[in-house]
Amino acid sequence: MALVYIGHFAAAAAILVVAPEAPALPVAVAVAWPDLVWPALVFAGKERLKVDRDNPLQTGVEFTSYPYSHSLVLGGALSLLPALLAGLIYQSALVGVLFWIGVLSHWLLDAVVHLRDLPIRGWGRSDRRIGLGLWSRPRLAFVLEYAFFAATALLLAPPSMLVGLLGGGLLLHLFNINSFFGFTKSNPFGTPKRFALLALVGYAFAIAWFTMAWQ
Ligand SMILES: [Zn+2]
Repeated sequence: MALVYIGHFAAAAAILVVAPEAPALPVAVAVAWPDLVWPALVFAGKERLKVDRDNPLQTGVEFTSYPYSHSLVLGGALSLLPALLAGLIYQSALVGVLFWIGVLSHWLLDAVVHLRDLPIRGWGRSDRRIGLGLWSRPRLAFVLEYAFFAATALLLAPPSMLVGLLGGGLLLHLFNINSFFGFTKSNPFGTPKRFALLALVGYAFAIAWFTMAWQ
Protein backbone atom coordinates (compact mmCIF):
# COMPACT_ATOMS: atom_id res chain seq x y z
CA MET A 1 0.00 0.00 0.00
CA ALA A 2 1.66 3.10 -1.23
CA LEU A 3 0.21 6.32 -2.57
CA VAL A 4 0.56 4.76 -5.99
CA TYR A 5 2.56 1.61 -6.66
CA ILE A 6 2.98 1.66 -10.39
CA GLY A 7 4.15 -1.97 -10.54
CA HIS A 8 0.55 -3.14 -10.10
CA PHE A 9 -0.24 -1.85 -13.57
CA ALA A 10 2.48 -4.03 -15.06
CA ALA A 11 0.31 -6.93 -13.92
CA ALA A 12 -2.70 -5.31 -15.62
CA ALA A 13 -0.73 -5.04 -18.85
CA ALA A 14 0.31 -8.70 -18.63
CA ILE A 15 -3.27 -9.83 -18.03
CA LEU A 16 -4.55 -7.80 -20.97
CA VAL A 17 -1.90 -9.19 -23.28
CA VAL A 18 -2.89 -12.73 -22.35
CA ALA A 19 -6.60 -11.89 -22.81
CA PRO A 20 -6.71 -9.11 -25.42
CA GLU A 21 -10.50 -9.37 -25.76
CA ALA A 22 -10.97 -8.24 -22.14
CA PRO A 23 -11.82 -4.60 -21.39
CA ALA A 24 -9.07 -2.62 -19.63
CA LEU A 25 -11.18 -0.94 -16.94
CA PRO A 26 -12.11 -3.96 -14.78
CA VAL A 27 -8.54 -5.26 -15.00
CA ALA A 28 -7.13 -1.88 -13.92
CA VAL A 29 -9.61 -1.79 -11.02
CA ALA A 30 -8.72 -5.38 -10.07
CA VAL A 31 -4.96 -4.85 -9.75
CA ALA A 32 -5.65 -1.82 -7.54
CA TRP A 33 -8.57 -3.41 -5.67
CA PRO A 34 -6.94 -4.09 -2.26
CA ASP A 35 -5.76 -0.47 -2.18
CA LEU A 36 -9.24 0.76 -3.08
CA VAL A 37 -11.08 -1.08 -0.31
CA TRP A 38 -8.29 -0.39 2.18
CA PRO A 39 -9.00 3.38 2.54
CA ALA A 40 -12.69 2.62 3.02
CA LEU A 41 -11.86 0.08 5.75
CA VAL A 42 -9.46 2.54 7.39
CA PHE A 43 -12.22 5.14 7.46
CA ALA A 44 -14.62 2.57 8.88
CA GLY A 45 -12.08 1.75 11.59
CA LYS A 46 -11.83 -1.89 10.48
CA GLU A 47 -8.20 -1.70 9.37
CA ARG A 48 -5.43 0.27 10.99
CA LEU A 49 -2.12 1.92 10.27
CA LYS A 50 0.31 4.19 12.07
CA VAL A 51 2.00 7.13 10.40
CA ASP A 52 5.31 8.27 11.88
CA ARG A 53 5.14 12.04 11.57
CA ASP A 54 8.93 12.32 11.66
CA ASN A 55 9.52 9.90 8.80
CA PRO A 56 8.32 10.88 5.30
CA LEU A 57 9.48 7.57 3.77
CA GLN A 58 7.25 4.61 3.06
CA THR A 59 8.90 2.87 6.04
CA GLY A 60 7.29 5.53 8.24
CA VAL A 61 3.90 4.02 7.50
CA GLU A 62 3.19 0.95 9.58
CA PHE A 63 0.33 -1.29 8.51
CA THR A 64 -0.67 -2.65 11.87
CA SER A 65 -3.80 -4.46 10.73
CA TYR A 66 -5.29 -4.99 7.28
CA PRO A 67 -6.48 -8.59 7.02
CA TYR A 68 -9.55 -7.96 4.85
CA SER A 69 -7.83 -5.99 2.12
CA HIS A 70 -4.29 -7.38 2.25
CA SER A 71 -4.19 -11.01 3.38
CA LEU A 72 -3.64 -13.75 0.84
CA VAL A 73 -6.29 -16.22 2.01
CA LEU A 74 -9.04 -14.06 3.53
CA GLY A 75 -8.46 -11.14 1.17
CA GLY A 76 -8.32 -13.52 -1.78
CA ALA A 77 -11.56 -15.19 -0.73
CA LEU A 78 -13.36 -11.89 -0.12
CA SER A 79 -12.33 -10.60 -3.52
CA LEU A 80 -14.35 -13.37 -5.16
CA LEU A 81 -17.31 -11.09 -4.50
CA PRO A 82 -16.19 -8.10 -6.58
CA ALA A 83 -14.88 -10.58 -9.17
CA LEU A 84 -18.35 -12.08 -9.44
CA LEU A 85 -19.84 -8.61 -9.68
CA ALA A 86 -17.41 -7.63 -12.44
CA GLY A 87 -18.34 -10.81 -14.32
CA LEU A 88 -22.02 -9.94 -14.02
CA ILE A 89 -21.58 -6.32 -15.05
CA TYR A 90 -19.62 -7.30 -18.14
CA GLN A 91 -21.68 -10.45 -18.72
CA SER A 92 -18.43 -12.33 -19.04
CA ALA A 93 -17.00 -15.17 -16.97
CA LEU A 94 -13.60 -14.25 -18.38
CA VAL A 95 -13.78 -10.76 -16.87
CA GLY A 96 -14.69 -12.29 -13.51
CA VAL A 97 -11.73 -14.68 -13.59
CA LEU A 98 -9.32 -11.97 -14.75
CA PHE A 99 -10.56 -9.69 -11.99
CA TRP A 100 -9.72 -12.30 -9.38
CA ILE A 101 -6.28 -12.93 -10.89
CA GLY A 102 -5.70 -9.16 -10.88
CA VAL A 103 -6.47 -8.96 -7.15
CA LEU A 104 -4.13 -11.86 -6.39
CA SER A 105 -1.37 -10.21 -8.43
CA HIS A 106 -1.70 -7.21 -6.13
CA TRP A 107 -0.78 -9.27 -3.09
CA LEU A 108 2.18 -10.90 -4.85
CA LEU A 109 3.63 -7.57 -6.01
CA ASP A 110 3.00 -5.99 -2.60
CA ALA A 111 4.98 -8.86 -1.07
CA VAL A 112 8.09 -7.67 -2.92
CA VAL A 113 8.06 -4.11 -1.56
CA HIS A 114 6.29 -4.28 1.81
CA LEU A 115 8.11 -4.83 5.06
CA ARG A 116 6.99 -7.94 6.93
CA ASP A 117 3.38 -6.86 7.31
CA LEU A 118 1.34 -8.76 4.73
CA PRO A 119 -0.74 -11.47 6.42
CA ILE A 120 -0.94 -14.89 4.78
CA ARG A 121 -4.15 -16.17 6.35
CA GLY A 122 -5.77 -13.00 7.65
CA TRP A 123 -6.94 -14.34 11.01
CA GLY A 124 -5.60 -15.96 14.16
CA ARG A 125 -2.66 -15.22 16.41
CA SER A 126 -0.31 -17.61 14.66
CA ASP A 127 -0.86 -15.95 11.30
CA ARG A 128 2.38 -15.28 9.47
CA ARG A 129 3.24 -11.95 7.91
CA ILE A 130 5.56 -11.62 4.99
CA GLY A 131 7.25 -8.97 2.84
CA LEU A 132 10.65 -8.86 1.14
CA GLY A 133 11.03 -5.24 2.20
CA LEU A 134 12.28 -3.44 -0.91
CA TRP A 135 10.89 -0.26 0.67
CA SER A 136 13.61 -0.38 3.30
CA ARG A 137 15.95 0.62 0.44
CA PRO A 138 13.84 3.50 -0.83
CA ARG A 139 16.11 4.87 -3.57
CA LEU A 140 16.56 1.45 -5.10
CA ALA A 141 12.81 0.89 -4.75
CA PHE A 142 12.11 4.13 -6.60
CA VAL A 143 14.20 2.97 -9.58
CA LEU A 144 13.10 -0.65 -9.57
CA GLU A 145 9.37 0.00 -9.26
CA TYR A 146 9.37 2.16 -12.36
CA ALA A 147 11.90 -0.01 -14.20
CA PHE A 148 9.72 -3.06 -13.60
CA PHE A 149 6.67 -1.28 -14.95
CA ALA A 150 8.52 0.20 -17.93
CA ALA A 151 10.21 -3.07 -18.87
CA THR A 152 6.89 -4.91 -18.77
CA ALA A 153 5.23 -2.24 -20.91
CA LEU A 154 8.08 -2.22 -23.43
CA LEU A 155 8.00 -5.97 -23.65
CA LEU A 156 4.25 -6.48 -23.84
CA ALA A 157 2.32 -3.38 -24.87
CA PRO A 158 1.63 -2.44 -28.48
CA PRO A 159 3.98 0.39 -29.57
CA SER A 160 1.07 2.82 -30.06
CA MET A 161 0.36 2.71 -26.30
CA LEU A 162 3.91 3.22 -25.12
CA VAL A 163 3.97 7.02 -24.87
CA GLY A 164 0.80 7.09 -22.78
CA LEU A 165 1.85 4.18 -20.61
CA LEU A 166 5.45 5.20 -19.96
CA GLY A 167 4.77 8.94 -19.68
CA GLY A 168 1.63 8.70 -17.55
CA GLY A 169 3.18 5.96 -15.47
CA LEU A 170 6.20 8.14 -14.77
CA LEU A 171 4.01 11.07 -13.70
CA LEU A 172 2.09 8.86 -11.28
CA HIS A 173 5.30 7.37 -9.96
CA LEU A 174 6.68 10.87 -9.37
CA PHE A 175 3.51 11.70 -7.43
CA ASN A 176 4.89 9.32 -4.82
CA ILE A 177 8.50 10.54 -4.95
CA ASN A 178 8.67 12.03 -1.47
CA SER A 179 8.08 8.63 0.10
CA PHE A 180 11.23 7.35 -1.65
CA PHE A 181 13.57 10.30 -1.20
CA GLY A 182 12.20 12.03 1.87
CA PHE A 183 12.49 15.62 0.64
CA THR A 184 10.40 16.85 3.56
CA LYS A 185 11.51 16.47 7.16
CA SER A 186 8.18 15.24 8.42
CA ASN A 187 5.49 13.09 6.85
CA PRO A 188 3.26 15.52 4.94
CA PHE A 189 0.23 13.22 5.25
CA GLY A 190 0.44 13.21 9.02
CA THR A 191 -2.60 11.16 9.92
CA PRO A 192 -3.68 7.66 8.86
CA LYS A 193 -6.93 8.93 7.37
CA ARG A 194 -5.21 11.57 5.29
CA PHE A 195 -2.74 9.00 3.98
CA ALA A 196 -5.59 6.60 3.14
CA LEU A 197 -7.60 9.29 1.38
CA LEU A 198 -4.66 10.40 -0.72
CA ALA A 199 -3.93 6.81 -1.70
CA LEU A 200 -7.52 6.47 -2.88
CA VAL A 201 -7.18 9.60 -5.00
CA GLY A 202 -3.85 8.39 -6.38
CA TYR A 203 -5.28 5.04 -7.42
CA ALA A 204 -8.37 6.64 -8.95
CA PHE A 205 -6.09 8.70 -11.18
CA ALA A 206 -3.97 5.64 -11.93
CA ILE A 207 -7.00 3.59 -13.01
CA ALA A 208 -8.23 6.41 -15.25
CA TRP A 209 -4.77 6.81 -16.77
CA PHE A 210 -4.25 3.11 -17.44
CA THR A 211 -7.70 2.64 -18.94
CA MET A 212 -7.19 5.57 -21.30
CA ALA A 213 -3.64 4.57 -22.19
CA TRP A 214 -4.61 0.96 -22.94
CA GLN A 215 -6.60 1.33 -26.12
ZN1 LIG B 1 -1.59 -2.87 -1.50
